[in-house]
Amino acid sequence: MICKMMKKRLAFWIHILALIILVLIAKLSKLKNDNNIQSIVKYGNTHNKWVLPKVSEILKQSRFEETGPIDNYGWPGNPKKGFCADALKIAVRHASELRGIKLSGVNINGEMSIDQINIYFFDPDQFSEARNFEGNCTYTAFSNTIICDQSFLYQFQDIDFIEKHLKDYLLKEEELEDLLTNPRGDLRITIGMPSLISAHHVLIWALLHEIGHFAYDHKPISKFESLLAPETANQKSREMEKEADEFALTVLKESSKGTLTSVYIGLQNILAEQIALAVGAPGSKLPVQLYEFKDDIPLKQPIGTHPPLLIRCLNALIVFEPEIPNYLVKGSVYKKLKEQIKYIK
Ligand SMILES: [Zn+2]
Repeated sequence: MICKMMKKRLAFWIHILALIILVLIAKLSKLKNDNNIQSIVKYGNTHNKWVLPKVSEILKQSRFEETGPIDNYGWPGNPKKGFCADALKIAVRHASELRGIKLSGVNINGEMSIDQINIYFFDPDQFSEARNFEGNCTYTAFSNTIICDQSFLYQFQDIDFIEKHLKDYLLKEEELEDLLTNPRGDLRITIGMPSLISAHHVLIWALLHEIGHFAYDHKPISKFESLLAPETANQKSREMEKEADEFALTVLKESSKGTLTSVYIGLQNILAEQIALAVGAPGSKLPVQLYEFKDDIPLKQPIGTHPPLLIRCLNALIVFEPEIPNYLVKGSVYKKLKEQIKYIK
């Protein structure tokens, strides 16, 4: 009897000890993470390592930056100006309300500030010390800080792809300049340019999504959590992703007219290209429209903090779709496409 009681007590204390060790490990890894971010930001600031997101060569060539038709809004892809800056301002207001703190604005590539949302963009080829954040845009859960790999953003925005497509139509640079300044209803431009602008606007979604994680005070799921209870960790991750997209939607709905639709079109273009890549379609171009695509979509099991890009786009499109009435692709199409995904090793 005594022996049984002792065994019970021992088991109890072993559990308590295991719990204390787990909490300590979690605290230590958080501390390590925080120190790491602090030193990366400090290094980036003192060595001038931060960059701004890349923009399309076509947009750079055009006069959009200085005197173009959208001068009042700045040009897309610049988080310090225009549509993106407007959306960030609204995001700060919403995040302040949700967190119950007073944030004064967004700091891009500047000194870390406790009362702002700090966003840093880096190029992994120029800043190897930040390699931990390569291939992603991440809310770090430390001091309102988001760190983004600009080359990853550029690649997922699909700008090269659209640009190439646009250039195929264009004969020479003078013609491009002429058409951009004075489109005269040229179909090549009226179809291609919105796609290119949408591609840049996807940056807004990426940033708002990360600010959403901050606004809801999401903590990254630790390796221990995933190891101990993988299903619970997955469920938690899915809920956090949805909340972050819903935050982005709330902000986009209040942003300058057309921003939400433009982001939506950009995400849709990325989704089509990601599916084309997954199924190995020639020229990374889907032979049919998204709603006509019925084949399986093979996808590698995800690693890292976020699901694969294809899933991220699908999730965001499902959340945004009810707010984009009369658009060709319905939410049910995205849900169906999600069912067509078959995970491979
Ligand atoms: Zn996320």
